[in-house]
Amino acid sequence: MSNSRLLPAATDNFQALIYGATIERKQEPHVIIGIPCETRPGETRVAMIPANLQPWADSPVDFLIESGAGRSAGYADQDYIDAGAALAASRDDLFARADIVLQVQSFGANTVSADADLERLRAGQLIIGMTDPLANPAAAKELAERGVSSLSLELIPRISRAQSMDVLSSMATLAGYHAVLMGAVDAPRILPMLMTAAGTLTAARVFIMGAGVAGLQACATAKRLGAIVEAYDVRPAAREQILSVGAKPIELELETDTSEDKGGYAKAQGEDFLRRQRELMTAVLAQQDIVITTAAVPGAKSPILITAEMVKAMKPGAVIVDIAAERGGNCELTQLNQTVIAEGVKILGPENIPARHAYHASQMYGKNMETLLKLILEQGELRLDFEDDIIREAVVTHGRDIINARIRTALGSEPAPGVSAGTVADTVKE
Ligand code: NAD
Repeated sequence: MSNSRLLPAATDNFQALIYGATIERKQEPHVIIGIPCETRPGETRVAMIPANLQPWADSPVDFLIESGAGRSAGYADQDYIDAGAALAASRDDLFARADIVLQVQSFGANTVSADADLERLRAGQLIIGMTDPLANPAAAKELAERGVSSLSLELIPRISRAQSMDVLSSMATLAGYHAVLMGAVDAPRILPMLMTAAGTLTAARVFIMGAGVAGLQACATAKRLGAIVEAYDVRPAAREQILSVGAKPIELELETDTSEDKGGYAKAQGEDFLRRQRELMTAVLAQQDIVITTAAVPGAKSPILITAEMVKAMKPGAVIVDIAAERGGNCELTQLNQTVIAEGVKILGPENIPARHAYHASQMYGKNMETLLKLILEQGELRLDFEDDIIREAVVTHGRDIINARIRTALGSEPAPGVSAGTVADTVKE
């Protein structure tokens, strides 16, 4: 580790994150940012890549890396060292010294192995990562009990200013792309039309259900591969977007005026709507060779769009790639991480698709993280400005409290007085 720089040991002065306090840090650097290895089995991404460290090259912000953190994504320890980072002696050392810890699957999202880090946390630390906050709000309690502040990337509002921090879009883009590749590999036919001496091969029909970020990327990918692509979404606004990526929108005779919330997300639909949707969709599905399902409703189980009955009406050899599998799936027969064959139809329920493209997934995730850090680090000082929508909506725990309004509602708690009014702004100062 001859190239690694020695960083000062963690001091208590990051206690400044706890309400109102401003405590002086006596030693340089002001802020130490730790990037540990991801521990959830199958997680190959890393929270930041070496290129993301560049903006802080000449600032009093230092990066501390756990050895091997970027390896499975294609980034060697030496790449981080060359970018100015130091290597931690161990995971314990990293958590002990880092003021801010950056993760991909953090507490709440990593339900398999994150608990092993609970004892490594210390009061005043800030953890940033994906936490699956609406599905697993209770994870915030563990952090609040330990006085650890946390920022959940999934809660960053989808406003223009935050577009470059939007990990949901980054990861959904890769999921949509990969889903088409999976379908293409498992389909008994190829996607493009081919005219050969041995006859003409007709193009495959690909149908995308749910035309959000993943669905639109799936449309574009399938189109590039030469398929005939159609797509459907419950939000009327999706029609134009489907057309813009070269696919044909499928319209059903259904009342969709109330299908979209103020944030542009789909609202959960009633059982009558979903039943009628399934009836009309059966005929559409019967024509398809590959179906990619992406339909999601934030904080809720994914709607069932394809029942076992509908699968019976599909062509033998057809493939369904259900990228909503982690949220219960859009097909009734989906099994997470398995391939189910029913009536000759293959149903794939892949888990953590973005990790299959860890190099680019980490590049995108790291850029999102870098942009967020630029918002909260000013001249080497950490500043959580609760007047800022992005901070107010994405910070979940602060000090020993769960301050986030959505998470408090999900936990059945009263709103946090003072914080929801945007009155807390803490700064760590030299
Ligand atoms: P998502 O992952 O929450 O859901 C995927 C898609 O499934 C959505 O398009 C949704 O409408 C659809 N869906 C839900 N229930 C359905 C049903 N019963 N039948 C058919 N489709 C159904 O969505 P997402 O990709 O995160 O995008 C959600 C919204 O956010 C979209 O409007 C998108 O354009 C918008 N967005 C905005 C920004 C921004 O920065 N402004 C960034 C990304 C996404």
